[in-house]
Amino acid sequence: MHKHHSALGLAAAPSTPVSGVEIAQSAPVEPVTLLRPHAASRAARFFVEKFPGRSMYAVKANPSPDLLRVLWDSGITHYDVASIAEVRLVARTLPDATLCFMHPVKAEEAIREAYDNHGVRVFSLDSLEELAKIMRATRDAADLTLCVRLRVSSEHSKLSLASKFGAAPGETKELLFAARQAADALGICFHVGSQAMTPEAYAQAMERVRAAIVEAAVTVDVVDVGGGFPSSYPGMEPPPLERYFETIHRAFESLPVSYSAELWAEPGRALCAEYSSLIVRVEKRRGDELFINDGAYGALFDAAHIGWRFPVRLLREPDSRARDMAFSFYGPTCDDMDHMAGPFLLPADTQAGDYIEIGMLGAYGCAMRTAFNGFGSNEAVVVDDEPMTSLYVPVEREAATNVVTL
Ligand SMILES: *Cc1c(COP(=O)(O)O)cnc(C)c1O
Repeated sequence: MHKHHSALGLAAAPSTPVSGVEIAQSAPVEPVTLLRPHAASRAARFFVEKFPGRSMYAVKANPSPDLLRVLWDSGITHYDVASIAEVRLVARTLPDATLCFMHPVKAEEAIREAYDNHGVRVFSLDSLEELAKIMRATRDAADLTLCVRLRVSSEHSKLSLASKFGAAPGETKELLFAARQAADALGICFHVGSQAMTPEAYAQAMERVRAAIVEAAVTVDVVDVGGGFPSSYPGMEPPPLERYFETIHRAFESLPVSYSAELWAEPGRALCAEYSSLIVRVEKRRGDELFINDGAYGALFDAAHIGWRFPVRLLREPDSRARDMAFSFYGPTCDDMDHMAGPFLLPADTQAGDYIEIGMLGAYGCAMRTAFNGFGSNEAVVVDDEPMTSLYVPVEREAATNVVTL
């Protein structure tokens, strides 16, 4: 793990966990990412123990090698990769991991390198063209697991994945049939959209799977329910994950698949959202707007562009006694779009010079940072306190408020 205590002016030894307030007292000029390996490990163990099938990590949610090693050490052996760079990264970081290339539209060269050099045998596809591409690139390999991606509704999810990929109902019969001929093992996969707020999303998608299997009359060896498992954010507190697992298990058990068929999932967000938070400094206050030193081109892309809300807290000792009020944020670049509407609830006396922790940025936050306009920092520190919210912390051990528990 990267530790930059000296850069933060901290006297602590490199392995000593520090709290957000300690970091605020050390007055970092750049944003600092707090890493919580224990939280990612806990999420991984939860999926490994409780999901009624195999959980593979969707690397795009956060490709940090440190995180990949935490997940591996916690029992995650399979990794959903979507680009040749992700294939190389995971193969380099975790040489014994099993890689599944689950992007339905791939470069032929990427397929070939993945198959020839990195042992990849699982590929997804949603068209006959992609099937032909995979067979060309692997020279008609006889050891492939081919997963046909179905288009399913994203109506229960906060982020749609319904329009870009997936075979439509009229296309699946021919595609499943052709993939069955070419594959050693045939899979069906889908993605209900990210942050699915109800297990019903999976129940409905599994009905699409049933219809597709019945119509094509093929033997299916793998059913992959994709990602979409939620985390907890302000205004988006989902039901317990166990309910998702029960719904999926029930639906899977009733599908017309062989007794030896396997159930897979591809959680991204749910495994890493609690892994990171960010400490930012307020550089200016203008009414209810706070100008902070990270933003839309940093770890807050989702906050800016799709109005995602993240938990926030003021890091001040002693605590502010002012009542909370709603703020919006401006990021550091010279771009009007670098604006996060929130609302973010913080004490009304929050002012320039204050430090704020923004939570739950482990998924699709830190992974999307750019260096646009000269901003963007790679400072990171490992801490061992609890994330600001958690789907995995038992009630009695949780100190923070505003917590959703199982
Ligand atoms: C993005 C993605 C995932 C992970 O989705 P989450 O909502 O983060 O769980 C899984 N599978 C595929 C194919 C994806 O594109």
